[in-house]
Amino acid sequence: MLVAYGPGGRPIVAEETPLELLQRWSREHALSCPNCRGVVHVRGGPEKRTQLHFAHQRGECAWSTEAESVRHIRGKSVLANWLRKQFPQAVVTLEKRLPEPNRIADIFVRHEHGTCWAVEFQCAPLDIDEWRHRHTAYRNAQILDIWIIGNNRREKQEAFIEAIIASAREILFLDPLLEPPRAWLRWPVSREMLQLWPQDTALRPFFEGWVGRLGFGASLTDQLNSIRLGEQGALMHSARAILLERTRLLEAMKVAPSVVEALLLSYLEHSVSEEAVHTVMLPLLRAYQRDPDLLRRFNFGRGSLDQPPRAEDSLRVQRAIDWLHTLAKQGYGVTRLQELSQELPFVGPYAAFARYYEMLLALSSSTSP
Ligand SMILES: [Zn+2]
Repeated sequence: MLVAYGPGGRPIVAEETPLELLQRWSREHALSCPNCRGVVHVRGGPEKRTQLHFAHQRGECAWSTEAESVRHIRGKSVLANWLRKQFPQAVVTLEKRLPEPNRIADIFVRHEHGTCWAVEFQCAPLDIDEWRHRHTAYRNAQILDIWIIGNNRREKQEAFIEAIIASAREILFLDPLLEPPRAWLRWPVSREMLQLWPQDTALRPFFEGWVGRLGFGASLTDQLNSIRLGEQGALMHSARAILLERTRLLEAMKVAPSVVEALLLSYLEHSVSEEAVHTVMLPLLRAYQRDPDLLRRFNFGRGSLDQPPRAEDSLRVQRAIDWLHTLAKQGYGVTRLQELSQELPFVGPYAAFARYYEMLLALSSSTSP
């Protein structure tokens, strides 16, 4: 535990008290467990390279049946600091004993406007009924419970983890022993969404774990400090926000009656540079919109003797190929253009535009400048 009672029954937070003072009180048996009032001693510290904490003399306590792991002790301290940084106006208390529900929250947050959060850092297995019991008790007490799981349980298929994802639509795993502390944000996605997401971009989360009946688990990993808690305790990360926005755009593009330039530009905003959009994508899109059928008509003509391509079409296609050769001189060679074509959404009417782009590239590579 990270909090004990000191002389006079004052609560003492291990990390916030000078070590010499803690060691003196410990020798004098002046530290006690806030729960069972039994004598506790100071343990760990910088010299021992572990989190400074308090432990019962012989490990017995009516409130904690199992010895607390180093990961759990460290995690509570890491999470309390993470919460204090995000909510400087809130009161963040470690190991808060709550009369309602009658239990100790790992970290308790009282926001200035009065809402309360209990943040639980779970490193040990937890029975699903026990989790439900605690979750319901918190909710009945008007406390939002936020469950963060030790990275030691990340590979495990456990009912309580599935229940947390079902309830919060996401979950955070934490390795507090790394410096800086590392986190894995996981949330359920559908198989369809998996296929729609862009390949090989920096934005792409990796997929791991099966989140029970909810589908696939998308995961992002980063330092804990890159992840923030939103108003309703929702976990936020910039890459996830961008992906959600792209998902929303893809859904809109899938059902659009025709290619809408503004939607495409928003979609490409985070994956294609502004220069590439203006030099390549926009001129190409406008040419496509003027005559979507040009390349198909031209290709069809080339393959049949009785219907040769119209002179006008041949001229326009030649002009497009000349344009591609100019692009190559500006740094947009075939490889670069192919990479860019991969960023186009292959949904609804946008798929036809992506095919037009690929057709033009194929024509260009079969002709020399
Ligand atoms: Zn105790």
